[in-house]
Amino acid sequence: MKDKIWLSSPHLTGREIFFVEDAFQKNWVTSLGENINEFENSLQRYLHGNVQICALNSATSAIHLALVILGITAGDEVITSSFSFIASANPIAYQGAIPVFVDSEKDTWNMSPAALQEAIEGRISKGNKPKAIIVVHLYGMPAKMDEVLSIAAKYEIPVIEDAAEALGSKYKGNACGTFGRFGILSFNGNKIITTSGGGALVCHTQEDKDKTVFLSTQARDNAPHYQHSHIGYNYRMSNISAGIGRGQMEVLNDRVDARRKMQSFYVDIFKDIDGVEVLSEPGTDFYSNHWLSAITVDASKTGKTREDLRLAFLEDNIESRPLWKPMHMQPVFADAPYYGGNVAETLFENGLCLPSGSNLTDDERNRIAKVIKQVFSK
Ligand SMILES: *Cc1c(COP(=O)(O)O)cnc(C)c1O
Repeated sequence: MKDKIWLSSPHLTGREIFFVEDAFQKNWVTSLGENINEFENSLQRYLHGNVQICALNSATSAIHLALVILGITAGDEVITSSFSFIASANPIAYQGAIPVFVDSEKDTWNMSPAALQEAIEGRISKGNKPKAIIVVHLYGMPAKMDEVLSIAAKYEIPVIEDAAEALGSKYKGNACGTFGRFGILSFNGNKIITTSGGGALVCHTQEDKDKTVFLSTQARDNAPHYQHSHIGYNYRMSNISAGIGRGQMEVLNDRVDARRKMQSFYVDIFKDIDGVEVLSEPGTDFYSNHWLSAITVDASKTGKTREDLRLAFLEDNIESRPLWKPMHMQPVFADAPYYGGNVAETLFENGLCLPSGSNLTDDERNRIAKVIKQVFSK
């Protein structure tokens, strides 16, 4: 059996262990310490905006806390992209709120501004104005933020940006994650950088950051004994994980370059194959970290389906994966309202994510190219 080629595996440098060891030596191994402060500071510098970062144990926790701070409670409705990982929507359910799913648009595969407008109007006409919008930058591709933000502003609905896949991406020169009332980052093992598991909430005021720290550390009131007037959570990042993050921040720009090179590699391979499209920036306003390279396969033109390619990869021990199955098609969200057409559904039927890691070697790229050429030359 040939060595496995992964879709997106952790890519460590060796420097991470230096910061982890430092935490061991100083015995700062829980959710306080220099690694947390420095990791938050380096993210703040990287994102440039006027932002405050709170490091947490996952991006899912970050979305949950954003909803808690916005006061989302049982029966409220929250709009989000149907075409995403389930972690964008689960925290809505944690609050007993109702997700309202919105279709994608074809350029970026992200939330369709037209369907968003339709969803807001549709919910208002039913007497339940949505309380928040969670917009996702999928596979690193920035969503059409000008349109989304102007619709959100018109109806005065706060925006949470799920930038879990988009650290290093920019829209009109500004970092993804800095546009909304809150932004979300993930450092899960498969993301562009990792802390083994972790996330962050991007805030714009000291007040929001303080609330996030408070809620993520069991909401302890200021007293010598344990005193509580709010329900809190155990969501803070540990100083050990943050040490891994500090090491990873040193190479984030290299990781973005390498992922973008992988996307160019696929653009180059598929340029001669009519009927296969590689997800690409629709214009100069968009700068994607290309966390995952993804394609759609038009079977009527190629005579092949994305399953043909996926199975051929599997045969060669190469991991690839169908695009996200839209949330409005998931059994667990069968009753949730949905607005839009069949863009997300069609992407799911015809789309495939390709190996995109920043640590792939030339030999591995050759193996990938060979399989692709075999499938589409038959
Ligand atoms: C990975 C991911 C999340 C969740 O991140 P965790 O840190 O694993 O909780 C949320 N949204 C999207 C779009 C993701 O890809």
